[in-house]
Amino acid sequence: MSGLFDLTGKVALVTGANTGLGQAIAVGLAQAGADIVAVGRSAPDETRKMVVDAGRKLTAITADLGSTEPIARVVADAGPIEILVNNAGIIRRADSTEFTEADWDAVMDTNLKVAFFLSQAFAKGWIAAGRGGKIIQVASMLSFQGGVRVPSYTASKSGLAGLTKALANEWAGKGVNVNAIAPGYFTTNNTEALRADETRSRQILARIPAGRWGLPEDLAGVAVFLASRASDYMHGAVVPVDGGWLAR
Ligand code: NAP
Repeated sequence: MSGLFDLTGKVALVTGANTGLGQAIAVGLAQAGADIVAVGRSAPDETRKMVVDAGRKLTAITADLGSTEPIARVVADAGPIEILVNNAGIIRRADSTEFTEADWDAVMDTNLKVAFFLSQAFAKGWIAAGRGGKIIQVASMLSFQGGVRVPSYTASKSGLAGLTKALANEWAGKGVNVNAIAPGYFTTNNTEALRADETRSRQILARIPAGRWGLPEDLAGVAVFLASRASDYMHGAVVPVDGGWLAR
């Protein structure tokens, strides 16, 4: 049974693995046996230590994933990988009447455009080589809901859910699994402003059936599942990990 989830001998590329959910996903995959390629703009020193403690290796590639510019270099420097986790993402908050084009573009480019072109770059190689691979997108509750004062974030994460299904339709028959994890409300930099706002924070907590915010390590199990042989027949799923938020 444990072999179903074993990632020994696999290499997983995780974007934005220096902190937050990306760090927890990278460490979870390493604990299941995978070596990690961490791609991002900040040095993943803490994550490297955790991956090494799990007995695996971490290779860091420095890249600003706010545009598609570094993608060809990232693919070349990463070498062969079997698992891609598009985790890097940003959020910008403002009333929609005041929302700027710069905030729209920054969020859409990082969260959606780069996730698509990284997926394309790796899937192209896997398909040309006649082998499969696993792509995990990091979606959001705002892949299902509207959110408040975050129009480009909602558009990007709803787009990512659609993209997960679109790519699954094209690549499932070629052995490439494309699925998404939709985290609920987790304690990371991304939600710092929400947690600092006492009213919003209370309202959010009151709606979570589990009665607490998610901890980054709450995501590791689903990431390992979607990266492993256990999910070989799963395609185009957007899996909520939300303490029951959507069930409310
Ligand atoms: P976080 O702590 O802010 O982490 C975001 C990660 O993305 C960081 O590693 C960050 O690097 C990286 N990143 C952002 N822009 C980048 C760029 N231009 N180039 C390279 N790396 C970049 O937030 P998080 O909560 O862990 O977010 C991870 C993912 O989960 C995001 O896609 C987010 O939308 C999603 N998510 C989070 C929640 C939540 O409740 N926390 C809920 C749903 C979905 P730096 O450290 O260098 O900025």
